Amino acid sequence: MALLEVESVSKRYGTETLALDSITFSVQPGEFVGIIGPSGAGKSTLLRCINRLIDLSGGDIRFDGVSVTNLRGAALRRHRTRIGMIFQHYNLVNRLSVIENVLHGRLGYKNTLQGVLGLYSEEEKREAVRILDSVGLSEHMYKRCDQLSGGQKQRVGIARALVQQPKMLLCDEPIASLDPSSAKVIMDTLRDINQTMGITVLVNLHQVDVALHYAERIIGINRGRVVYDGPPDALSNSQVYQIYGSEAGELILDLRERHAA
Ligand code: ADP
Repeated sequence: MALLEVESVSKRYGTETLALDSITFSVQPGEFVGIIGPSGAGKSTLLRCINRLIDLSGGDIRFDGVSVTNLRGAALRRHRTRIGMIFQHYNLVNRLSVIENVLHGRLGYKNTLQGVLGLYSEEEKREAVRILDSVGLSEHMYKRCDQLSGGQKQRVGIARALVQQPKMLLCDEPIASLDPSSAKVIMDTLRDINQTMGITVLVNLHQVDVALHYAERIIGINRGRVVYDGPPDALSNSQVYQIYGSEAGELILDLRERHAA
């Protein structure tokens, strides 16, 4: 059974912008999917619809066999705990320590009072430490997040998502603010999580070469529509044109150089 089913999903902002125009695809458990497309294509909107940070204008999204399209209140919070979000700008609380930020990933499992008082069980703390160790951050555990590099902050973001014990990670441009070597560490970490923990990964990427390198399946989006859905090695130059429009020329040149290297 598919883990995620996106069926004819549309999203309109106001009366002007149709950000998603009847998008349909499904994702099997354990897949690593790269979503590519030019700026403004609707990639971020799509991820935000899936974890229901925003409402859909039309269509249906099912996660683990259950429609999440109209979830509210406690049921919506439960849905969100099962999906870890990774953001371009990390969304950490900078004045708090690394471990406190990671433990925030457990808030979805708590009532308001426990959350406000920061009440975490010994088991939760041990798990947070173990996960920080697995992403190579154990020595920075008590540092404030504003003392970390971008790449380290993103690893905190990943650790916070993992303590949720999610079934799926949604990563919205996770490497857009990073230098190439930090970007590689983050993409390697995501691939490792996918392969060793079996967690399904959907990652929005502006960089087509990175997507082709890491993803086993590419979904190409242009103006809110899926224009490619298939394996990376079947993506032709003309399909890159279809996805990227006028931005494509430079990208195709980059890809040729990569293949020639
Ligand atoms: P991408 O992630 O591919 O860059 P987005 O999903 O951010 O694309 O945006 C898709 C379209 O929706 C764009 O035209 C963008 O301007 C518009 N958009 C995104 N968020 C909002 C919002 N909160 N309000 C109004 N328009 C938005």
